[in-house]
Amino acid sequence: MSRLLYQGIEGVVDRSLELALAQVGAEDSSRTQRAPQWDKLREECGIVAIHGHPEAARQAYLGLYALQHRGQESAGIATADGQHLANIKGMGLVSEIFTDDVLQKLPGYMAIGHTRYSTTGDSALLNAQPIRVDSTKGLIAIAHNGNLVNLGNLRARLERDGAYFQTTSDSEIIVQLIAHSRAGTLVDAIADSLSQVEGAFSIVMMTRDRVFAARDPRGFRPLSMGRIKNPEGPDTIVFASETCAFDLLRAEYERDVLPGELVMVTGDGVTSRQYASGIPQSSCIFEHVYFARPDSRIFGRWVQESRDQMGRQLARESGVPADVVVPVPDSGVTAALGYAEQAGIPFRFGLIRNHYVGRTFIEPEQRVRDFGVRLKLNPVRNLLEGKRVVLIDDSIIRGTTSRKIVRMVRGAGAREVHLRISCPPTISPCFYGVDTPSKRDLIAANQSVEEIRRYIEADSLAYLSLDGLLKCCDGSEHNGYCTACYTGNYPTQWVDVNEILPAAASL
Ligand code: SF4
Repeated sequence: MSRLLYQGIEGVVDRSLELALAQVGAEDSSRTQRAPQWDKLREECGIVAIHGHPEAARQAYLGLYALQHRGQESAGIATADGQHLANIKGMGLVSEIFTDDVLQKLPGYMAIGHTRYSTTGDSALLNAQPIRVDSTKGLIAIAHNGNLVNLGNLRARLERDGAYFQTTSDSEIIVQLIAHSRAGTLVDAIADSLSQVEGAFSIVMMTRDRVFAARDPRGFRPLSMGRIKNPEGPDTIVFASETCAFDLLRAEYERDVLPGELVMVTGDGVTSRQYASGIPQSSCIFEHVYFARPDSRIFGRWVQESRDQMGRQLARESGVPADVVVPVPDSGVTAALGYAEQAGIPFRFGLIRNHYVGRTFIEPEQRVRDFGVRLKLNPVRNLLEGKRVVLIDDSIIRGTTSRKIVRMVRGAGAREVHLRISCPPTISPCFYGVDTPSKRDLIAANQSVEEIRRYIEADSLAYLSLDGLLKCCDGSEHNGYCTACYTGNYPTQWVDVNEILPAAASL
């Protein structure tokens, strides 16, 4: 049974924050084993918003279902009907939290939803979103994807002004800024608040009778707008982190929310204002490399197309004689297809992923070598035995998982194992909403490509060049990308100096 936090539900007493904390503490002391860490960067959130649908909560649920890959630890949905604003959130997968019974407690024609990956164990439930705040501007719910980088200053200033924070989440800072804004109207207050925060944010917000969507001026995180046509009345307007959510909702993609744009949806329709302009775009290129689903179109471009091009470019830049191209599933599949086609080498599913591995597991009593990876991947021996294998993956973070996979392929009889990575070496942490290890744990920040090759025990190792990656994602003058985790050049000020200095020193 998922633990849930109720707010504003008729007939249900709001769970107090203390109770939520006590529950979190109880879970943390249990003997449940967490599944082994997969050595990947993790996106922190997916968001969705619905306006003008009689079953808004169910639509938000479907949207979140499609965005589950962007966060699996908590999820929440807030709904409004013009008068009330209810919110339910909990720990677990979207389908675990939102049973039919729970969805029925969320009436209304508007909804916002959020799914989150969280590293902060003891505050996970409190920091689950949407966050619902009763402010001087009325009830506001917010769901946020990204990370603010001028947190400390703003929180201290707001607390001096009397703000009481429910959570440690930076998303709440935006709501508190709105509550403390001197602007005359709510829209002005939102625009005023957004122009004070620095960093990455794609957000959806809801009051009792309006839905808002906005992106930061640099457009770090994706956010698209779609429409469900209704011949008998006003159309349903939807927003989602990725367009794959629109497919499940049968919504038509209309456009991206622009960097620096604030969109408002009311019963009278959609209005928009540019609250910031003239700041160079720096959308997260890693969305194209790994995070987003290949069936999504983000930053005006199909992810599948970008990954296919990355594979082709990788083959052009660092092709190697081989018998078979094998992806590390699932995220390496599209790039591997591109590589195989470009190189004229057969593509084979030489590694099979177990999709049913949960978040907890029972470990064998005797320690088994590389158990964590074996739980998720298994080699197809007859495809690998005696073969020269090109393995395609999308990143090496600590190097530990890559080493286990190379060993696994070699253990299945491969004669040679050549690892190709569809992006440049990850040398710097991310401050814009992606959970990255610190610089000391990023293998490429501390070792040369040849040293990494030796560590992971591959016959050869090559990464895609930065120029190659930008070309594959159409990184032209009019389509700017953040590449800070590959270069150490951060597009904003206010990042953690202690993290950056050692990174810069090694460049
Ligand atoms: S630092 Fe890397 S992961 Fe973070 S926003 Fe920039 S490109 Fe994306």
